[in-house]
Amino acid sequence: MGRKKNKGSSTGYTSVPHKEAFQRMNYLFQAALAALCSTPSETGLSRFYVRTMKRISKRLVLRMDPSIKRVLCKSCDSLLVAGVTCTNRLKSARDKHIVVKCLTCGTLKRFLTDNDYVLWSEIPENVAVLGKAPIVPVTDKPESQQVSQQQTTS
Ligand SMILES: [Zn+2]
Repeated sequence: MGRKKNKGSSTGYTSVPHKEAFQRMNYLFQAALAALCSTPSETGLSRFYVRTMKRISKRLVLRMDPSIKRVLCKSCDSLLVAGVTCTNRLKSARDKHIVVKCLTCGTLKRFLTDNDYVLWSEIPENVAVLGKAPIVPVTDKPESQQVSQQQTTS
């Protein structure tokens, strides 16, 4: 009887720090979306769930994925769903960008529409994988020069 112990998975992860907190944040995000879809005119419950999710993230210093972070209003904690709680407008002044306006508080978010732009978290060198050694940047100098420099400095 009892729980099965999770001895690794196909991905090689043995344990994820703050797994319960991430699960709770995931649940709260889905609950906020469900609450907003059931009653689009009443955003109070949805905003409460999002506010709770942001508090957990802030208290435990957990990063939210940019795809989730971009659909939350910074000032009133509304879930930004296009046509329901926000408007999306494409502006071509200066660089082309999308302006997302929260219909609850009027706060604006701007996102550049650059096809070559890659999020910092999507660059493989910036992502740490549990149980693996960090990626060390490759230097151009051969090993013999590096050793000689270390000997001269010490
Ligand atoms: Zn807002």
